[in-house]
Amino acid sequence: MPTIYNILQATALDKVDAKVLLAHLIDKHLDWPKSSLISRDKDSLPQALVDDWLDLEKKRLLGQPVAYLIGKKEFFNVELTVAPGVLIPRPETELLVELVIDFLDMAKGCQIAAPKVLDLGTGSGAIGLAIAKNLPHCQVTCVDVSTDALDIAQKNAALLDLKTVKFHQGSWFDGIADQFDVIVSNPPYIPAGDEHLSMGDLRFEPSSALTDDQDGLSAYRQIFQQAPAHLNAGGLILVEHGYDQSEAVCQLLTSCKFVDIKAHLDLAGIKRAASAKLS
Ligand code: GLN
Repeated sequence: MPTIYNILQATALDKVDAKVLLAHLIDKHLDWPKSSLISRDKDSLPQALVDDWLDLEKKRLLGQPVAYLIGKKEFFNVELTVAPGVLIPRPETELLVELVIDFLDMAKGCQIAAPKVLDLGTGSGAIGLAIAKNLPHCQVTCVDVSTDALDIAQKNAALLDLKTVKFHQGSWFDGIADQFDVIVSNPPYIPAGDEHLSMGDLRFEPSSALTDDQDGLSAYRQIFQQAPAHLNAGGLILVEHGYDQSEAVCQLLTSCKFVDIKAHLDLAGIKRAASAKLS
């Protein structure tokens, strides 16, 4: 029977991807510790694990995302279940969580005792659930138009033991009557026909989470127009956007009468998020 060592030597996959897939299969089939990828790399593997490996290796070689193959993705300090019905959370989106935590930090002078946070287009729940996990005094509402996505987000809330998070099915603010202290969103922002849509993981992700099938800015127009009616005075609106959309998104915020408009850099130094306040 092959060993971890044999598999890693023979595979045409990227070695990091191969190790993530193998670690997942070891966890599924064996009661070996996490370190066994190294410490037991010359031990024979059971046939069922090897069969699963061949299946995952084939799918990965065809381009299927690692996160979908193992059914999970780390985001901020939470682990999320992911499946083809939701976007795979990206590291750059963690910036939004950091900025919300910063804004609501009582140690930094925030006076709001029980802040209400709205995550529009929540997908797997990544942003809303990471905020809820790290700021238990927040009341978080997660919205998505996709029932598939909401099912996954609710499953994630249960796995993270987040019992007070609310879920709502609808497009942006449809059916939302409340007002919030923070509105946060990572909407579909890739323009129709953009070459990235036919590259890498994006080929397998839900198109409705990636692109508006227009100029990439239509979600911002809708959200910014309706947001003032749903924000408390002094409330924060915060969105992720594409690598070249900072100026356009900040301009839209200005035209919707928001104040204190700021561009935020991701870890690659790219303007990746915009925030503003309601005066
Ligand atoms: N961040 C994703 C990407 O560029 C796009 C997700 C989105 O449109 N919100 O791959």
